[in-house]
Amino acid sequence: MAWLLPEISGRPLSIIRCPQGSTRPCFFQKHLAAGMHYVDSVPLVEESGQTEDYLVVRDARAVRELVQFNTLEFHPWGAHADDPDRADRVVFDLDPGAGVPWSETVAAARRLRGLLEDAGLQSFVRTSGGKGLHVVVPLKPACDWEQVKPFAHAFAESMARMEPLKYVATSSKRLRKGRIFIDYLRNGRGATSVASFSLRARPGAPVAMPLRWEELGRVKGGNAFDIDSVPARLRRLKQHPWAGIERIRQNLAGLARDD
Ligand code: ATP
Ligand code: MN
Repeated sequence: MAWLLPEISGRPLSIIRCPQGSTRPCFFQKHLAAGMHYVDSVPLVEESGQTEDYLVVRDARAVRELVQFNTLEFHPWGAHADDPDRADRVVFDLDPGAGVPWSETVAAARRLRGLLEDAGLQSFVRTSGGKGLHVVVPLKPACDWEQVKPFAHAFAESMARMEPLKYVATSSKRLRKGRIFIDYLRNGRGATSVASFSLRARPGAPVAMPLRWEELGRVKGGNAFDIDSVPARLRRLKQHPWAGIERIRQNLAGLARDD
């Protein structure tokens, strides 16, 4: 929990609650519920024009309360509750389609990292706890979603155009077979991605695990880290695998000119 809190603190948060355990139906929740006393909230205007109270945790007590409400998964926005219209994290979600070997998913993440580097952007990688990998780009100062969304879309499209047999940037199930879907749709106001160190409500209780890029080659799959293996890893970790991310100053301003 000490590792999870900084990943979600102060951000609008969606959660997945599993009152009957992870093998029974779970539900996704983004609004404050009755009976939550330590969890904070922030009123946010939704697309419909309506204002709703979004969940925000600011301390360990609030995380514990959500766990008592049977929360297994934590999915923050890529923005802070006090600045919800500007993103400080871009997330590319790499989803291997049926039949894609894990090594190809690793190669895709490295390729994406290289292309981002060419654009002057440092990135970080984590296992999703599911099938794939997330490549995360920190933005400082934060950037309007109106700028972030088209950037992420264009970036995914251009990678797919380079290797159309390997990568695809449209979510159509048919096109994804045998390819890796570069899902850029996490990058809009209100969209969420699983937090680093969050459990997943899936068989074997996997955990979304941030990695150093150098570790990626030794990882066996998107669900390689789970509730059994994570405690030992956390004990061994001297620092966050993404250490230094907070000090990086980079954003999307001026990128278009470099192309
Ligand atoms: P995988 O590697 O298996 O793809 P993942 O974390 O990348 O794992 P999903 O678990 O499929 O992918 O996450 C789907 C996305 O949709 C996440 O961004 C999550 O925050 C969001 N999400 C999940 N459930 C719901 C829901 N019921 N309603 C709205 N959004 C959801
Ligand atoms: Mn995914």
